[in-house]
Order: sequence, then structure tokens, then C-alpha cells
Amino acid sequence: QTKDEGRNNHYIFESDDTDYSLDKLIFESDMRRMIVFDQLEAYYQLQIDVQTEKVYGTEALIRWNHPEKGLLTPNVFLPIAEETGFIKEIDEWVLRNACQQTQEWRENGYPDLTISVNVSRPFFESVRFVDKVLAILEETKLPPQQLSLEISENTKITELTAAARQLLPLRDIGIKISLDDFGTGYSSIGQLKRFPIDHLKIDKSFVQESNGNDTDAELVKFIINMAKSLNFNIVCEGIETEEQLKLIREEGCHYAQGYFYGKPVTANECEELLAKWR
Ligand code: C2E
Ligand code: MG
Ligand code: MG
Ligand code: MG
Repeated sequence: QTKDEGRNNHYIFESDDTDYSLDKLIFESDMRRMIVFDQLEAYYQLQIDVQTEKVYGTEALIRWNHPEKGLLTPNVFLPIAEETGFIKEIDEWVLRNACQQTQEWRENGYPDLTISVNVSRPFFESVRFVDKVLAILEETKLPPQQLSLEISENTKITELTAAARQLLPLRDIGIKISLDDFGTGYSSIGQLKRFPIDHLKIDKSFVQESNGNDTDAELVKFIINMAKSLNFNIVCEGIETEEQLKLIREEGCHYAQGYFYGKPVTANECEELLAKWR
């Protein structure tokens, strides 16, 4: 009996979590169909330059149009996709589609949008990762300067260091690297200084807790100023209110992303938003 068979048997016959396990098995097999049957869709959320009030770019965020369960957000299926390794295919699909879409926007009157794409650890650690990114840029004709790869700080620092090494050749040709979810992870300021990144994305939990609370507002200011002194471009996530926007703008944060400017939407809806901002 192979290890995999053993695992499947365990899923099916374990008495106390049978439903969950069966669900998960079905989910896993559904997942094999998601790409073939075109059930994935990239949503886009605006990133705004808060100093100039112009659109800087968008972040691609994956959604799964599940045939029975409806539209699913990543927190529902990415953990399982990560476990099964399927996430590599999802990430590659998103990267290709997002680059294609952004190139299309370039050709239709939005020449300098930056597209941010989340890359999971299994994807950026895979042997052909760099080749795949280069191939996708060549295929879609998107200039490397307009692609930003987001890696989550929520990764162990040894892995982050490995990631940095993986990403260096891409950074050398102009691709930007963002450290996502900053403040929820493991990096010390010393490590941060040596880490080859362009953008630091401050996790939404900080800004959201700053509402009307002086101590937390001080914390947001502190993080922004630390990031500035390390010469990073700063993106604040989760901006929902005018008050939050005012706070980060006054501290000199560069970019903002959040419901205040718009939720993640389909490519078509995003195009309408872009037209309004023009
Ligand atoms: P993330 O990369 O940190 O993306 C930001 C998340 O915050 C998105 O959730 C977005 O919808 C949400 N958000 C944006 N503005 C606001 C706001 O003002 N308020 C609140 N409450 N939330 C806001 P989403 O789309 O559910 O994605 C969750 C996470 O899933 C992402 O977090 C990212 O880590 C992961 N993810 C999404 N797409 C991909 C993908 O294509 N590949 C990989 N590997 N991970 C992905
Ligand atoms: Mg992200
Ligand atoms: Mg984030
Ligand atoms: Mg996050």
C-alpha cells in the first residue's frame, strides 16, 4: 500500500470526521477540473497612489466559480490546494491571465498599470519557476517593470531567504518584489534590511485596528516611518475609511488598497473603474 492510498483510506474511514474528509476528497477532485473547465477567474482590486490620487495598478485575486458551491474566495480552497500541491497550477494560471489582462489594458489606453500577483511558496520554490515567469512575460509581452510578485511574510524566515534567492534573477530584469502581510510574520528589522524587496505591504489588521484608537494609530505611523527609512515603497492594505486614508497619507505612505477605493472585481468591472479614475 502506498502512502497516498493510506491517506485516502484514512480520509474515508476515520469515524469522527467522515463528513469533512469526504468533503475534502470531493473538493480535491473538483479542483482537478477547475482549470480544464475554465472555472477560475482572476478578480482585480485597485491600488491607488495616495499622494497623486492616480491609479498605480491592480492586484489579481483568485476566485473559483464552483459548479455547485458558487463563487469561492481563496480562504476556502487555497489551504487544500496548498496541501495537494495544486496551488502551483493555480498560481501559474493567475500569473498568465493577469499579465495578459494588464497587457490588454496597456494597449487600450492604460499604458503604465502595475499588476501584482501573489505567489505561493510551492510555486516560487519549484525548479522551473524563473523560466515560467520569463516565458509568461514573453508570451504576453508585458514589460517586466510592470509586474510585481507578492510573497507573504507569513513564511518562515529561512524560507523567505530562499525565496529572496529565487527571486533575484527576476528582480535583476526589473520585476518588483513585494513583501505581503507585513507585520504578521517573522522578519526582524535586520533581516528586512537585507531582503531584496521593492514594496512592503502593511497587513490590513494594523490599519483596521487604528480606527479611533490612538495607540494603534501610533503603531501604524511607526511602521510606515520604519519602512520609509529602509527605503521601501509602502502599500497599506485594508483601507476602508476616509479617516484611515488620511492617517496613512499624512505619514507619507505611497499606495493604498481597500474597500474605500473598491472591492476586488471582475476584469470588465475593473475596466469601468479604471475609466472613472482616468
Ligand atoms: P492578500 O494578498 O493579502 O490580499 C488582500 C486580501 O484582503 C484580499 O482577500 C482582499 O479581498 C482583501 N481586502 C482588500 N481590501 C480590503 C478591505 O478594505 N477590507 C477587508 N476586510 N479586506 C480587504 P481575498 O481576495 O479573499 O484573498 C485572500 C488571500 O488569498 C490573499 O491575501 C492572498 O494571500 C491569497 N490569494 C489570493 N489570490 C491568490 C493567488 O492567485 N495565489 C496565491 N498563492 N494566493 C492568493
Ligand atoms: Mg497579496
Ligand atoms: Mg496582504
Ligand atoms: Mg492577507
